[in-house]
Amino acid sequence: MTKRISSPGVIHQVIRRHRFTLKKSLGQNFLADENILKNIVQAANLTRDSYVVEIGPGAGSLTQYLAEAAGKVVAVEIDGRLKAILEETLQNYDNVVVRFGDVLKMDLPKMIAEEFPADAAVTVVANLPYYVTTPILLKLLTDHLPLRSIVVMVQKEVADRLEASPGQKSYGSLSIAVQYLADPSIVMTVPRTVFIPQPNVDSAVIRLDIRPEKRVAVTDEPFFFQIIRASFAHRRKTLMNNLMHQLFPKEQKEAVLDVLEQAGIDPGRRGETLTIDEFARLSENLKPLTAADH
Ligand code: SAM
Repeated sequence: MTKRISSPGVIHQVIRRHRFTLKKSLGQNFLADENILKNIVQAANLTRDSYVVEIGPGAGSLTQYLAEAAGKVVAVEIDGRLKAILEETLQNYDNVVVRFGDVLKMDLPKMIAEEFPADAAVTVVANLPYYVTTPILLKLLTDHLPLRSIVVMVQKEVADRLEASPGQKSYGSLSIAVQYLADPSIVMTVPRTVFIPQPNVDSAVIRLDIRPEKRVAVTDEPFFFQIIRASFAHRRKTLMNNLMHQLFPKEQKEAVLDVLEQAGIDPGRRGETLTIDEFARLSENLKPLTAADH
């Protein structure tokens, strides 16, 4: 019978026995609540035909539940010191592979091709390390992975950004990247008290269902994202000022103003008021200007 790593007592015991010290710099806040672990797995809708990538298995608490619900789990962990603990906590599961390394530096398409069947649709499930939540989400969304959905624990403040609409304080480039590629929803909010050690903020479990078709059509995705990043570079500046400071030489000022007018977008607006459709229109219309530049 496998020992669950889901209560504070057992987590402390395993950590102590292996003389493991939790590293704040690696976002090591272990989840010690069986109900929340079960809720995360339930939100991922897994069956024995599901293929899962977990990021940061830690001591293996979520991994155990995932292994019981899915066909195969590949867990990516940066901290090699967790090897002995994971060997112990996952010893009864023959459908789990742990790969040690930094998920941000990993070739994920290659890893997925090596570990899962060719037509596998992958679900990412994780209690994400807080210090790299945004880069991990952006990598998952833009690496062209065969993803079905992403179910992850993030800080509450990041969860709010994912669902934000134009004009809201938390609306930014992450909101747009997520909403362009996925349908986001908040599964549950989670108090800070269920983690060891307790972080300074509350969390939320979010679910991103990857859309079969992107929300808007753009011909040059990297340029679309460049425009979005430039528009949010300085939130107090107008859209026009941001575009001119970040992307276009002074000589193109008139041309950029003409494009904004054609696109029906007031140059005095701030980037944070633009919808995804407006960003798509803007990037389609501004694209020819960059071609003329080269
Ligand atoms: N899944 C465990 C749980 O729920 O208790 C641990 C979650 S803890 C919030 C985040 C985990 O991610 C830690 O085990 C940490 O070592 C790992 N981690 C941090 N940065 C990482 C990175 N860049 N790549 C892979 N794993 C990382």
